Amino acid sequence: MKIICIGRNYADHAKELNNPVPGSPVVFMKPPSALLVNNKPFYYPEFTQDLHYEVEVVLKIGKNGRHVQPEFAADYYPEIGLGIDFTARDVQQRLKDKSHPWEIAKGFDGSAVIGDFLPIEQCNRGAIEFELKKNGETVQHGNTKDLLFSFDDIIVYVSKFFKLQMGDLIYTGTPAGVGPVQIGDKLEGFLHTKTEVKSMFHCEIK
Ligand code: ZN
Repeated sequence: MKIICIGRNYADHAKELNNPVPGSPVVFMKPPSALLVNNKPFYYPEFTQDLHYEVEVVLKIGKNGRHVQPEFAADYYPEIGLGIDFTARDVQQRLKDKSHPWEIAKGFDGSAVIGDFLPIEQCNRGAIEFELKKNGETVQHGNTKDLLFSFDDIIVYVSKFFKLQMGDLIYTGTPAGVGPVQIGDKLEGFLHTKTEVKSMFHCEIK
């Protein structure tokens, strides 16, 4: 399986990092070894002094496909989840300054936190609200109606380059409010379904 991530997909987040709003999706990948599942703790890596959380809605690919046409895109992600795209912001900045790829700032072990998945029908498809709490306080609060590139747009674009395969995950981008974590912090992600606000994952920084 592969982990595809979309960067700068909410205008307010692009702005907070002084990045331009992109004309096509910004795509990068993490290796499968980046996955952090089952609410396991995250161990703060020694190579960064500025580790940031980014909470993101995650699509779970339900069937194989390449060059997916827009009218069929919605069939490819029957389930969604919520996760964190951990980012070594200081490392990323140094790489960006040199126009180098940023994999080591984004794809390190444990950098792709993922929790439970649920059928997308349980959510308000075009406008899914989600939030991240750090030590009990809301630090990010997003709504997928604000996506620059919708879930369908992402499926169409990404499948031009990479064959989508069952079980692949797509991190769809983070809203504003990203920030640092310290050892001891506790993160918890919530997704608003049609009927409840559901806790999707929690993660302690060790
Ligand atoms: Zn991200």
